[in-house]
Amino acid sequence: MTLTMPPTLASLDARSISAWFGARKVLDRVSLVMPAGTVTALIGPSGCGKSTFLRILNRMHELVPGASLAGEVLLSGQDVYDPGRKLTDARKQIGMVFQKPNPFPAMSIYDNVVAGLKLTGVRARRSEKDDLVRECLTKAGLWPEVKDRLRQPGGALSGGQQQRLCIARSLAVRPKVLLMDEPCSALDPTSTRRIEETIAELAHEVTIVIVTHNMQQAARVSQQCAFFLAEQGTPGLIVEAGPTTTIFDSPTDSRTSDYVHGRF
Ligand code: ADP
Ligand code: MG
Repeated sequence: MTLTMPPTLASLDARSISAWFGARKVLDRVSLVMPAGTVTALIGPSGCGKSTFLRILNRMHELVPGASLAGEVLLSGQDVYDPGRKLTDARKQIGMVFQKPNPFPAMSIYDNVVAGLKLTGVRARRSEKDDLVRECLTKAGLWPEVKDRLRQPGGALSGGQQQRLCIARSLAVRPKVLLMDEPCSALDPTSTRRIEETIAELAHEVTIVIVTHNMQQAARVSQQCAFFLAEQGTPGLIVEAGPTTTIFDSPTDSRTSDYVHGRF
């Protein structure tokens, strides 16, 4: 019998995050606690810094030329930006899925999942890889759908399947947090619903932060919402954050209410 370890859930705590591209400030002292095992939806108009905030959470922002930031990101209390901590360490613990599904198109479905390991330098035996591929594809909702197609190229899958393959790839390193930047924006409604079901399942073991422009989706998948806004050339900030039901039904700020009800 195999003993499975209970997953360890992790919280993410962003404290007073400000961000710049060159001299231009795009985020102003954004603080947000993303509790362990929950789904947080980041909502707000385009250009208000949601993607920038997401990239700061897993240290992708620092790779953008001219980009800088202030503030702290704590993963279960540990500083993600600790100078003694390797960049790959942050990437392993905090995975990312993008708007446009980006599997390696010529690489097999199997190798796409395993590539998640290679990127971070983890070595595994063949039998371990087989188990991992099955496990990650199952969690991403692609098993047994692609069971007999593991040697086919990732690019041969439909858009929704490709996005689920990207989720499987990001799960291969057993991240504690999964960041998703508009993961369904390029997908049809059926694929979107399947990804939402996957998100709901994954939230039992991974803390999820999702950017979405789809308010129904935010209401369906998240327990917490943060409303970002950048007004007239000012940097983006969080107007209001709280339980999803509060943000939708009884927000404090009229701008939140206007945005979630499509009056913006
Ligand atoms: P959102 O995801 O909410 O649409 P972004 O985080 O992408 O917002 O962008 C926030 C602001 O930062 C925007 O004004 C955008 O033009 C600017 N920005 C984003 N990426 C870069 C970059 N690589 N270089 C310069 N400015 C950028
Ligand atoms: Mg964005």
